[in-house]
Amino acid sequence: MGLFTKDIHSLEDLYQHGLQDIYYAENQIVKSLPKMIETAPHGELKRGLQQHLRETQDQVRRLEQVFKLHAQDARGDKCPAIDGIIQEGDDLMGNVDDQDTLGAGIIAAAQAVEHYEITRYGALIAWAKELGHRHDVPLLTRTLNEEKATDKKLTALAERRINPRSEKGTARGGHARRRASRSSNRAAASRRKTGSKAGGKKKASARRA
Ligand code: FE
Ligand code: FE
Ligand code: FE
Repeated sequence: MGLFTKDIHSLEDLYQHGLQDIYYAENQIVKSLPKMIETAPHGELKRGLQQHLRETQDQVRRLEQVFKLHAQDARGDKCPAIDGIIQEGDDLMGNVDDQDTLGAGIIAAAQAVEHYEITRYGALIAWAKELGHRHDVPLLTRTLNEEKATDKKLTALAERRINPRSEKGTARGGHARRRASRSSNRAAASRRKTGSKAGGKKKASARRA
């Protein structure tokens, strides 16, 4: 939650502040994505981020529609959380030489952004319902679904090991895979595809043990 520009006395105030917080955040994300796209070492990651940039531009317009429903001008309120998340991603991009590791870092940084957005939209939707702002709900829900889908796609990219030689690993099971050879990575991947989710998890923890 950002620096409050006015006192918050009610859930309505909190909701309005939340809209301004996420409006600021979405605009910062629009500004930050081009550098991530440019720096991303992998075509699939670049294309995924490019698609999400277009979605994010739509999300900004969607929030402007919400402000309009409240007869308000769209206004952002500084969100230190998103500034920090973006700054951290930016620092990372300037500090990783190895391209595979860079890809892993960019995916994780992008997921940190999505997770922030998911928490914010989740709360805003609940508050909109509670406050009776029925027309806001579908607009905010559409955006929340895009954020969730983007997060899922990023997880899938990480799990498909677009960065097989990374020293850090990216997602769940990364440490186990780091120790494994690339050919056993492929075997493990095919086991994960064919096996059940629970079975796959058991195998992953067995490898870690
Ligand atoms: Fe915030
Ligand atoms: Fe967004
Ligand atoms: Fe997003």
